[in-house]
Amino acid sequence: MDEKTIGVLGGGQLGRMLALEARRMGYKLVQWTGGDQSGAELFADQAIYGSFDDQAAFEQFVSQVDAVTVEFENIPKNLVAKISALKPTFPSSEAIAICQDRELEKTFLRENGIPTTPFRIVQSAEELESALAELPGDVIIKTARDGYDGKGQLALPVENRISNAEAWSHFTGLRAIVEKKINLAGEISVMVVRGSDGQVVTYDPAENEHKNHILHLSIVPARLSQETLDLAREIAQSVAEKLEYVGVIGVEFFIDQDGKLLVNEMAPRPHNSGHHTLDACQTSQFEQQLRAVIGLPLGATGLLKPVVMLNLLGDIWKSEAEQPDWTAALEIPGSKLHLYGKKTAKANRKMGHLTFTADTVEEALQNAEKCIEAYR
Ligand code: ADP
Ligand code: MG
Repeated sequence: MDEKTIGVLGGGQLGRMLALEARRMGYKLVQWTGGDQSGAELFADQAIYGSFDDQAAFEQFVSQVDAVTVEFENIPKNLVAKISALKPTFPSSEAIAICQDRELEKTFLRENGIPTTPFRIVQSAEELESALAELPGDVIIKTARDGYDGKGQLALPVENRISNAEAWSHFTGLRAIVEKKINLAGEISVMVVRGSDGQVVTYDPAENEHKNHILHLSIVPARLSQETLDLAREIAQSVAEKLEYVGVIGVEFFIDQDGKLLVNEMAPRPHNSGHHTLDACQTSQFEQQLRAVIGLPLGATGLLKPVVMLNLLGDIWKSEAEQPDWTAALEIPGSKLHLYGKKTAKANRKMGHLTFTADTVEEALQNAEKCIEAYR
């Protein structure tokens, strides 16, 4: 096969991990960050920093690449469509458009009979009022666009609820969804990979623990019934098929108190809860993205060892630029450190992750907890 150059839209850590896998496999990678200066040049063969509406950057990017993918869903839809007219681009601009907008995403789920959290679409304080009347109990308002790690969300508990006018003042001029707050028994996610020939593979679901709306731990295998895990894989696969998706997609689920699975949202790219696949699975989610985009057969998804992934947030950095001493983490048998090379640490900013593999999931979890304690 000829040497291929993959173009990547977005400048974050997912692009960096994609670039590392591309290097290993002998592919070239050009990353157009849209302005993000956080270090794409370290691993990509070339980094382009122009904004996504910069015509010179556009030409520089498309002239060099054989196929294109994204590592971030908030890429302007028209840009993805414009690129896909010139170069094979996966996922499609239509699939990205659905996953980047909660209104389209929720509507897609509802129309396809896929169980999701009850919701209403709102564009004004009046519409908020009728939505609240239709969804009794605690709710969460979420902006339709550009939210991540819990940003752009406002919880409206029944107790101590602020007025509708005040709640809506945070969303004025925006579209939003109002969603029933689920009394969560747990959260899981399934990474799905679909090739352009329709071949589909899924990974073992990850059991996810969030803190402050940010992923904290992913535990694989998830400690749930086989029936629930099989059903999650089935639903996630049908999401990918109904989207006619090509590439890697992360499907996030809530589990309610009755054990029912509800799709929360989809990420049209490799996902934080799939990072363990680098160290603990036959094929990583990043290699799968390259395989799918290039049109190669998809890899096996088997779990080699039980694993826990722990996100490293800027909160444990000694200062903006000084990382912690990793001795305590690396002393733990089966630990592996991944740092994203971000120059400035901030509270809640994802700076890296650790994985802990062990013979049993209980041992992997104990090791992760030992590590959390050491960096508290
Ligand atoms: P983001 O785009 O920030 O990941 P999510 O909708 O996935 O947005 O919300 C982040 C986290 O907040 C979820 O993983 C979950 O822990 C919590 N959360 C969000 N919506 C709800 C809900 N309707 N009920 C209960 N918890 C929720
Ligand atoms: Mg989420």
